[in-house]
Amino acid sequence: MPQWIDISVQTPAHSQIGGVLTYRHVPTAENSAITEGSLVRVPLGSRDLLGVVWAIHEHPPAQLKESSVRDVSGVLEGLAPLPIAWRQLVQFAAHYYQRSVGEVAMAALPPQLRDLSAVQLARRLKKQHATAGARTETAGFATGLPLSAQQGAALAQIATQPGPFLIFGATGSGKTEVYLQAVQRQLEADPKAQALLMVPEINLTPQLQERVIARFGAEQVVSMHSGMTPAQRLQSWLGAHSGSARIVLGTRMAVFASMPHLQLIVVDEEHDPSYKQQEGARYSARDLAIYRGRLESAKVILGSATPSLESWHHSRPSAEGGRYQRLLMPERVGAGQLPFVRRVDMNNQPRKTVLSAPLLAAIQTRIERGEQSMLLLNRRGYAPVLHCADCGWKSECSHCSAFRVFHKLDRTLRCHHCGFTERVPRACPACGNADIAPLGRGTEQLEEHLAELLSSVRRPDGQAVKILRIDADSTQHKGALESQLAQVHSGEVDVLVGTQMIAKGHDFRSITLVAAINPDNALFSSDFRAPERLFALLMQAGGRAGRDARQSAQSEMWVQTFHPKHDVFAALKKHDYPAFAASQLLEREQAGLPPWSFQALLRADARSQEVAQAFLNAASQALHAQGAQDTALDALLAQVSVFPAVPMSIQRVANVERAQMLIESPSRMALQKVLAELHPVLHSQRAVPAHKGLIRWLVDVDPLAI
Ligand code: ADP
Ligand code: ZN
Ligand code: ZN
Repeated sequence: MPQWIDISVQTPAHSQIGGVLTYRHVPTAENSAITEGSLVRVPLGSRDLLGVVWAIHEHPPAQLKESSVRDVSGVLEGLAPLPIAWRQLVQFAAHYYQRSVGEVAMAALPPQLRDLSAVQLARRLKKQHATAGARTETAGFATGLPLSAQQGAALAQIATQPGPFLIFGATGSGKTEVYLQAVQRQLEADPKAQALLMVPEINLTPQLQERVIARFGAEQVVSMHSGMTPAQRLQSWLGAHSGSARIVLGTRMAVFASMPHLQLIVVDEEHDPSYKQQEGARYSARDLAIYRGRLESAKVILGSATPSLESWHHSRPSAEGGRYQRLLMPERVGAGQLPFVRRVDMNNQPRKTVLSAPLLAAIQTRIERGEQSMLLLNRRGYAPVLHCADCGWKSECSHCSAFRVFHKLDRTLRCHHCGFTERVPRACPACGNADIAPLGRGTEQLEEHLAELLSSVRRPDGQAVKILRIDADSTQHKGALESQLAQVHSGEVDVLVGTQMIAKGHDFRSITLVAAINPDNALFSSDFRAPERLFALLMQAGGRAGRDARQSAQSEMWVQTFHPKHDVFAALKKHDYPAFAASQLLEREQAGLPPWSFQALLRADARSQEVAQAFLNAASQALHAQGAQDTALDALLAQVSVFPAVPMSIQRVANVERAQMLIESPSRMALQKVLAELHPVLHSQRAVPAHKGLIRWLVDVDPLAI
């Protein structure tokens, strides 16, 4: 009896094919029957593709001609089928984020599975068995630190309650120690149990990786992140999939790791925007972690000093409808104090001041005491724009609606959106004026400026001041970030200058002063999440100061601002996240914004802005026209607002015009259903001659940036 098998394969984006195709398999004496979840190879056109068996039927599908169904070319031997829960997770993600099952499934598997021949794969599996052997030989884990009372209370809750949990713990309150002990408890209780530990960006936190390995042993832990080679990724994946790796430590992609005995998921710094994938299926790994936990009865722990407002809202008291359990860890370990916050009113400073005199004096004092300072400026390069005062020329990018950034170190003008780079012109390209000048400041300039201002200051050992800059430019080369962070940890560096890269997660021990040089831009952004992001960034940056209790009594966080009375800074001053969150949530409730509503962004890219917008508006009209004929759809549309198409804030990138359309509803289900109805409408609109010039469209469900 032949098997009729639905198999998910990678189909081209936007193809009408839903991502599962039907194949046939005839079991024989030497060719056993195929089971659900198996990894197989199947022909598609002239190619041979990797696929995952999604469903098996006894009868040929009614709508297909039997003779047109092709045979499965082979099964990947030696690999256990993917667990049902994994397939359900993929299916849910595909559905929720409006992509094909095959695309999500293939993106969730290590790329080498697609490319390796049967022989090559067999070799990898052999190697894998060898490592797995080493794993079973290890005994016991290192003992954790004796917990503080608040850590102990949090851990006890996790042990006895179902969760999901949100640990709301100050920076340096010992959240990581709680995660590690929760993992340990789970792994010790069941010799098969596996745990998934997710972090925003592994490269930024090599320390955490070291801590996990020191605690559990290198053989127990595999990593999953985009910085790994394909061979490493396959090795890690096989370790997790076979169950021999007990811990997966990874970035957002790890939420899809195949883990047959998953029992615990930790999402560290759960507020971090990098949990949201920004291409392909635009999933939120944090939200999928919650879903996956429910699916597999695994406990989920989210943790942050500045939770996302969504998670904060979900962790309100259960009497008010909260679904997560909030665990409080307000105190820093070892009675360390949070930094004292000082706001410098830049209105009272001389014009064009970069570093106010009191801040400069404070930095100088720290250097003379042998302490470190950290200056945050969220803009890399020397200056965001180069400008001619004579004719008004500015360093626009010819391919984007954005300015090219002046990088003085290599004397280039670089577009941070499309990468277009040119040498800095000697004179104004428009009028020939030789005197073109930088406008605004980036980290390069701040570093240069500081070096001048601090040139006569000496460290306690009599040496000159050492300034280090860390940003995307300084860390391009492999290993650069690690060695730069090591210089900070060793105390070699006196002043660290950098972008948000330096604000996250690092456990710097001797920083006693943190300063935000110019955080005001974010205050007036049109994005309703901007204040939340700024507050989190500043709290996290401040959290790098005073982590050593011996010095923390004097640690300070400085904010230079033209708006010292702004709510964001007032809340920061009091380290009062709950008050800040309450006021933001109230504003959002009044405006009907998330978490009181659900959003999706429909984006179109086209040769012209008119076509991009026309395509989106036409799709909306067609959908509403359809609703007029269809009472069920009409009832759904009544619950959903579809806004007119508008240009994106950076409307042109690399000569592509971009428009977006917001779709919003108080009902997640109504929004989901409308998006599903919209899918075929978009396909038919694409074929309309007036929309010639459309390049692509994409849907972003629960977008983070509007
Ligand atoms: P968080 O993740 O909340 O920022 P960490 O877990 O990194 O905090 O802890 C901050 C510092 O305190 C680390 O250096 C850690 O080793 C130390 N620490 C955490 N828990 C304890 C404890 N119970 N006893 C002593 N030191 C601890
Ligand atoms: Zn000019
Ligand atoms: Zn550009």
